[in-house]
Amino acid sequence: MIKGTTKLLGVIGSPIEHSLSPVMHNAAIAELGVDYVYLAMPVKPADLEVALAGFAAINLRGFSVTIPHKQAIMPFLSEISPIAQAVGAVNTVWHTGTSWAGTNTDVEGFVAPLKAYNRDWSQTVAVILGAGGAARAVVAGCAELGIQEIHVIGRNRQKLDAFQQSWVNSAVPVPAIHTWEKVPQLISQANLLVNTTPVGMHPQVDQMPVSAAEMKNLNAGAIAYDLIYTPNPTQFLKVAAEMGATAIDGLEMLVQQGATALQMWLQQPVPVDVMRQSLTQHLGLKVKN
Ligand code: NAP
Repeated sequence: MIKGTTKLLGVIGSPIEHSLSPVMHNAAIAELGVDYVYLAMPVKPADLEVALAGFAAINLRGFSVTIPHKQAIMPFLSEISPIAQAVGAVNTVWHTGTSWAGTNTDVEGFVAPLKAYNRDWSQTVAVILGAGGAARAVVAGCAELGIQEIHVIGRNRQKLDAFQQSWVNSAVPVPAIHTWEKVPQLISQANLLVNTTPVGMHPQVDQMPVSAAEMKNLNAGAIAYDLIYTPNPTQFLKVAAEMGATAIDGLEMLVQQGATALQMWLQQPVPVDVMRQSLTQHLGLKVKN
């Protein structure tokens, strides 16, 4: 029940109306019986600084950050975790008592379903399709797993060069960069193939980031991971599974990045299954065994 004492959490973005975060966070809050509520808060880019001052004034405890604020918020934070610095983006903010601090839980979210395989990743060849914001969390996640050989495929040479350059002074192995002509060759080498492009996302459900013919090069033992969570599975994951690969969809990443954030704000363990179930129900997905 929302009362006079109820503490505020939320997510900022623009647009924000379609965010799934309120569904999963409020489901966990209800299950825990803690006196919090999590709201979607539309904040336009020009209003970011004034919104932060307002949040501090009303004692908002913490918030998630989505497009277009993940990078723009960084200059307003007094502390930024090393992982968020490496990724170059913040998706979770909390109040320290005097100012705002930020981290990035997308990396934890990305690696969580992979860590469940409990294997040595050092000889893995990772091939990442796309070189945008999510690809940065994926590169950092691959490095966290111990993957040494990371290839990133993009369509714009200049953006790729900047992407590669941004890792040079970090603890992360500098990824190799390629344009899309290299896809067939790289897919045949991949043990972990990750789609970080929006290609295949609802409503373009028949599209794939690579062609079905190119996917024929995928090894049966490979893992195909799509960051997209609607549809579930994507066409990319359907074809990968037909090739004998293990398919991982983006829902678990979404759940796990949210669970890591909520745990930080509440300083207590959170019911990850309740968060997952709230999303599968909300999206009308079949529950996996
Ligand atoms: P972004 O920063 O806009 O990056 C998208 C990347 O995909 C860019 O490299 C872009 O290339 C490339 N791309 C876009 N359309 C393409 C096309 N038709 N062909 C080839 N490449 C194309 O977006 P993002 O924030 O990284 O998000 C990407 C996807 O990941 C979205 O579907 C998002 O929903 C998903 N995501 C999921 C989670 C999760 O928790 N599961 C978390 C974050 C993101 P250019 O730079 O050349 O435009």
